[in-house]
Amino acid sequence: MSDAYPIEPVEVEPVDTKRRRICTAIPNPGTVAMIESLRETEPWCMEGQPPIVWDRAEKATVYDAYGNQWIDMTSGVLIANAGHGRQAMVDAITAVTQKPLLTTYCFPHETRVELTKQLQQVAPRSDDKVMLVSTGSEATELSIKLAREYSRTTHSHKKDVFVTFHNAFHGRTLGAQFAGGVPSLKDWIGYGDTHFVQVVFPDGVRCEPSDMTFDAFERQLADAGIDENRVCGVMTETYQGGNSSFAPVQYIQALRAWCDAHDVILIMDEVQAGFGRTGKFWGFEHYDIVPDLIACGKGISGALPLSAVIGRKELLDSFGPGAMTSTHAGNPVCAASALACLNLIIDEQLPQRAAELGTILLAGADRIAQRFSDVILACHGKGLVAALHCVKPGSDEPDDMLAWKVIGRAVQTGLMMFGPVGYGGASVKLSPPLVIEEDALTEALQVLEDAFEYVLNE
Ligand code: PMP
Repeated sequence: MSDAYPIEPVEVEPVDTKRRRICTAIPNPGTVAMIESLRETEPWCMEGQPPIVWDRAEKATVYDAYGNQWIDMTSGVLIANAGHGRQAMVDAITAVTQKPLLTTYCFPHETRVELTKQLQQVAPRSDDKVMLVSTGSEATELSIKLAREYSRTTHSHKKDVFVTFHNAFHGRTLGAQFAGGVPSLKDWIGYGDTHFVQVVFPDGVRCEPSDMTFDAFERQLADAGIDENRVCGVMTETYQGGNSSFAPVQYIQALRAWCDAHDVILIMDEVQAGFGRTGKFWGFEHYDIVPDLIACGKGISGALPLSAVIGRKELLDSFGPGAMTSTHAGNPVCAASALACLNLIIDEQLPQRAAELGTILLAGADRIAQRFSDVILACHGKGLVAALHCVKPGSDEPDDMLAWKVIGRAVQTGLMMFGPVGYGGASVKLSPPLVIEEDALTEALQVLEDAFEYVLNE
């Protein structure tokens, strides 16, 4: 990784368009000391991104302090759905900080009242409840906890198995990693938990054709010796974040029916998919189903750390007063950011915008995938998220180095991209803020295509 994206500044040809400006070596030589200083203070794990020191970011543009300017294809990491640095969010945050009201623990405050009310309004059921927490991992862990507790207290027989999917990502804390479906991410735990079971995710690429229908789900549980009456919850990312892959609609609809038939809590992890990203407010709307619990994060606040579990009130009410809390739950500053962000998403009809611009993104990404079909196995996505799965020529073996090189070149030519993600760490992912201008998106796709061409001809 560090070989593919060295910290040493690389001289590149200048770029100067309305949307992009590269006028120094990349990374800027003036930032190298800062990056080296971070290497002294932070662990190695924090070095997974191209070494660009962000100075400011507005809407869909990221700036460094040296005159360079990138079209943002990251939204942070699918956080800034409403765009970076929006004035309404800055004003809301400023107002609460100037009061000042910086924290309240779980004591009520006005913004929490408004935010939970607004979230209840966008929730699938009008009486859904909303539990605010801080990170996506906390929201998925809490969802697991609620499903287990509800099933434990409402059934006389044991309901102690939690089902998730291969290649799934639900966060990096212990429970979230047990639920995750990437074995290498669990090596550190050192032991398996037989109460977490993974089945194949029907992404159409990293599975057999026979895994694409719901009978595969039941078959795999039976093969694993799991009595279906023992299942308390099923959790899936609405689309698998790594490769931006959706499941077939019929599969998820059958899963919903199966969960109803077996009194199993269905959780959609919308940490990435929610708040307009896929062209609908909630990603699960594409499947025309309603989950019991929704885990939210990232785009919910548009900037500051805030996440939530939203869902059926009898589930959310599983724990009594004080028994399910979090120190920063609904922090006033984070809540102010989330409320302003939510209003922008609704007022500016950003889900609709993502659907419209998504046709451009997906057409452009498909064009790249077809042109370089020898090294791009698949292109998946919906709305304003897409991923190109890089592979060794003519094979299905993931090629993380190719993905890194393409991303490196793209960054050197004015696209802000995060490091490769997904299966084998080999997917180039595109997830611009939903407010990106059409011409910036079109330009970004051309820059990415040029980056593939450059790297493959090196
Ligand atoms: N679920 C999904 C689908 C995610 O994409 C992520 C973060 N990438 C998480 C959970 C964990 O969120 P966080 O990093 O905020 O804990």
